[in-house]
Amino acid sequence: MAHFHDLEVTDIHKTIRDAVVLTLAPVNGAAEHFDFIQGQYLTFKRDFDGEELRRSYSICAGRDDGVLQVGIKRVEGGAFSTWANTELQVGDTLQAMPPMGGFFTDLNADAAKTYLGFAGGSGITPVLSLIKTTLTREPNSSFSLVYANKGVATIMFREELEDLKNYFMGRFNVIHILESDAQEIDLFTGLVTKEKCAKLFNTGWIDIAAVDTAFICGPEPMMLGIASALRTAGLDEAQIKFELFASAQTGQANRNATPQSEAVEAQKTTVSITLDGATQTVKMTRSSTILEAARDNAMDAPFACTAGVCSTCRCRVLEGEVEMATNHALEDYEVEKGYILSCQSRPLSDRVVIDYDQ
Ligand SMILES: Cc1cc2nc3c(=O)[nH]c(=O)nc-3n(C[C@H](O)[C@H](O)[C@H](O)COP(=O)(O)OP(=O)(O)OC[C@H]3O[C@@H](n4cnc5c(N)ncnc54)[C@H](O)[C@@H]3O)c2cc1C
Repeated sequence: MAHFHDLEVTDIHKTIRDAVVLTLAPVNGAAEHFDFIQGQYLTFKRDFDGEELRRSYSICAGRDDGVLQVGIKRVEGGAFSTWANTELQVGDTLQAMPPMGGFFTDLNADAAKTYLGFAGGSGITPVLSLIKTTLTREPNSSFSLVYANKGVATIMFREELEDLKNYFMGRFNVIHILESDAQEIDLFTGLVTKEKCAKLFNTGWIDIAAVDTAFICGPEPMMLGIASALRTAGLDEAQIKFELFASAQTGQANRNATPQSEAVEAQKTTVSITLDGATQTVKMTRSSTILEAARDNAMDAPFACTAGVCSTCRCRVLEGEVEMATNHALEDYEVEKGYILSCQSRPLSDRVVIDYDQ
C-alpha cells in the first residue's frame, strides 16, 4: 500500500525565484499508478544523511494537461524543499506514492456551478489544478480565485493565471491580495483576514450568494479566517473544502487529548491490522499510535507528515475505539464512517480492528 514508484524528472523550471515546477514522468511501469484527480498530492521520500524524509506536494497540473507536475516552494531551512530547489536535476528519479487526497468535488459536464478558491503562497498548487480541470470539464461553470502573496515577486504561476483568464474568458477571474505591495484598490492590499473577506463579499467583488463550493489552501490562520467569513456569509460545512500544508502546531501532535495514567497506558491492546489484503494481530501499548504499531511490526503502512495534516496514513476502524489527537485532513463524514489518521490515533479499547485497504 505504501508503495513508492519511480518518477523521472523531465523538466524543472522556476515559477518565481524560490519555487520550482517539476514535470515528472512515471518510469519502470509506474504509469498506471499516476492517474490523478484535480487537487490531489504526491508523497515523495528521500534519504537525507541516512534519515528518510517524506514530503507531500500537490499536483498543479490539470487532469487534461497531459502532464504530471508539482510546484515546490523553498521553505527557509527546509530540507526537502531546499534540495528540490537547488540540487534536483532533470534526469533524476524521485520515489513517490500514487496520488492521494480529497481536496476536490465531483465534476459533471452538465453542471453550471460557481466555484471560489482562496490560495496563499504555495497553496496555489492544488487550486490551480482545480481551476484548470473544472473549467475544462464543466464548460458552463465559473471559478473565482483570491490569491494572497507577500508581493508581486512571490506570486507563483502569475503568467499562467493571466493566460487562464484569457483562455477561459469570462469564466475565470483572479483577485491578487498583496501583503506589502500597494495596489490601486486599497482592499487588495494587506492580509486575507475574515474582515477582508467580508468586505470582498459585501462590496460585490465576489458574489458570495452564488457560490456553490469554496476551496481554501494556505497558512492555517488565513484558512481559519476565510472559513469563518464564508460561514458567516451563509455557506455550510459541506460547501467549504480545505487543504492544509502545515499546521501551526510544530512537530508531532500532542499526546492524547485526555491524559491517561501510566498504568492505563501500559495496558496492552490487541490490534488487528489489515494492509494489502493481509491481516496481522499484534499487541500494542495505549501510548503508541496505530501507525507506530503497524510499522513496529514490519507492516509497510503508508504515512507522510505524521502530524495529522495530510491524509496519507488514513485507515478505517472496524471494531473498537481509538482517540485521534489531531485531524486537519479528514472531513466529518469520513470520521463518522470510522476513518482515522493512524499517525494520530491511539487505542482506547482492549481490542481494535483496523483496515488500511478500505
Ligand atoms: C497535503 C500537502 C500538500 C502539500 N503541497 C505542497 C505544495 O504543493 N507545494 C509546497 O511547496 N509545499 C507543499 N506542502 C508542504 C510540504 O510538504 C513541506 O512541508 C514543505 O515543503 C517543507 O518541507 P521541508 O522538508 O523543506 O522543510 P522541513 O525540513 O520539514 O521544515 C523546516 C522548517 O520549516 C517549517 N515549515 C515546514 N513546512 C512549512 C511550510 N509549508 N511553510 C512554512 N514553514 C514550514 C518547519 O516548522 C521547520 O521549522 C504540502 C504539504 C501537505 C501536507
